[in-house]
Amino acid sequence: MNILVLNAGSSTLKFELIRTDRERLAADADEKLARGVIERIGAEAILELDVTGGGHRVETAPLADIREAVEWLLRWIASAESGIDIDSLAEIHGVGHRVVHGGEDFRASVRIDDDVLSRLQDMIHLAPLHNPHNIRGIEAVRQVLGSGVPQAAVFDTAFHADLPEHAYLYAVPYSLYRRHRIRRYGFHGTSHRYVAWRYRKLLEVEKEDVRIITVHLGNGCSACAIDGGRSVDTSMGFTPLEGLVMGTRAGDLDPALLEYIAAREGMNVREVTNLLNKQSGLLGISGLTHDMRELLAEEAEHDDRRARLAIDLFCYRVRKYLGSYLAVLEGADAIVLTGGIGQNSAAIRQRILGPMGWAGLHLDEARNSDSADRGPRRVSTDDSPLAAWVIPTDEELLIARDTVRLIG
Ligand code: AMP
Repeated sequence: MNILVLNAGSSTLKFELIRTDRERLAADADEKLARGVIERIGAEAILELDVTGGGHRVETAPLADIREAVEWLLRWIASAESGIDIDSLAEIHGVGHRVVHGGEDFRASVRIDDDVLSRLQDMIHLAPLHNPHNIRGIEAVRQVLGSGVPQAAVFDTAFHADLPEHAYLYAVPYSLYRRHRIRRYGFHGTSHRYVAWRYRKLLEVEKEDVRIITVHLGNGCSACAIDGGRSVDTSMGFTPLEGLVMGTRAGDLDPALLEYIAAREGMNVREVTNLLNKQSGLLGISGLTHDMRELLAEEAEHDDRRARLAIDLFCYRVRKYLGSYLAVLEGADAIVLTGGIGQNSAAIRQRILGPMGWAGLHLDEARNSDSADRGPRRVSTDDSPLAAWVIPTDEELLIARDTVRLIG
C-alpha cells in the first residue's frame, strides 16, 4: 500500500510517501518513496522535494491554501516527472495525518469519518494554533481524492492518554477539570512512542519491561517517563508551552508572571502568551536565534555570553527533568535522546548527560562524538547501569503504520 503522511501547519505542509503493508510492517521493511515540505503556502510557495534515489529539488508555485498545496502535491506524485513509481492517484491507498490534539476523546489513532471530523471540529478550542490546520489538511484530501480514499488521524496526545491522575491533574480546583477538561495532555506522543518501540526492538525486550526516559529535543522539546512501555509522565502540559526550554517557547515558569508581564509591558494576556510561545526559549535568552546549531556556532566562534547562557539554561532544564523522572520511575534502564538536537549534537548530549555519573550514567566519549553514525546507537559505556541511547525519531513511519492498520 502507498500511504501519504501529511502534517499540515498554518503555512506549511510536510509530507512523506511510504510503501508499507502488513507484511512489510511485520518485517520492519517499509519503503520510503519520497518526502518533502511545502512552505509559504498563501503566497509564492517554496517546495522542497526528495525522491528516494532521485535527488533533491526545490521549486516554487503560487499556492493559495492547503487545498491547492495538497492538489499540487498529489498531481506531482502521480506525474511521470516526479520519478516516483506511482502512475495515478488511484495508487495512493490511504492518507495518515498528524493531528496535534486529540483531547480526552481520542486515546489512539482513528480512521476518519464524518463523526470523527465533527468531533475534531468541536475540540479546536483545545489547540487553536494547530488543529484547524490539521483539519484543513484532512478536508483538502477529501476534496482532491474523494471521500473513498481512507484517511487516519494520529494524535500527538494519544500516547499520553493513560497518564495517572496524579500526573495529569494540575493542583487547581478540581471543578476546572470537570467543567473544562483542564489537565496535562502532553504532546510529541508519536515521537516518544516510536522511540520507545524502536528501543524495545533493539534491546529485544517485552513492552512491559521498558522503563526509560525519552527526550525529544528539536524546535519543540519534551521529556517522557515511560514505565511498562506506557507514558506515565511528560513535560508538555495543557499546551506544548510547558516543560523544557525550547527554540522559542519558555517552558516552565511561574504563572503569576502572566499578569505581571502584562501590567509592566502594557500587554494583554494573549500577547503575553504569544511572547512565551514565540519570543522566549533559546531565542529569548540569546537574543540571537532559536536555532541550536547557530547558537553553538556563536558560542564557539565568538564566545557569545548570551548564546552560552541560552544553551546552559536549555541543558540544565533537561537535566532537572531527567532527575525528576528518575525519581518518578524509581530508576530507569535508559535515557533515549531524539529530535534534531538530541540526534545530532554530541556537544549538547555531553552537556546534559556528562554530569550524570551520580545516577550511574557514563557517557562513552568516542561513541557520543561519532558523527558518522546516524542510526540508533548506545552512547554510554557498556557497563553503565543507566544507559544512554540516541534513536532517530520517525513519526511519519508510525503514522503510516497506524494508517495501514486502521484501513486494513
Ligand atoms: P527538529 O525540530 O527536530 O528538526 O530540530 C531542529 C533543531 O535541531 C534546531 O535547533 C537545529 O539547530 C538543531 N540541530 C540540527 N542539527 C544540529 C546539529 N548538528 N547540532 C546542533 N543542533 C542541531
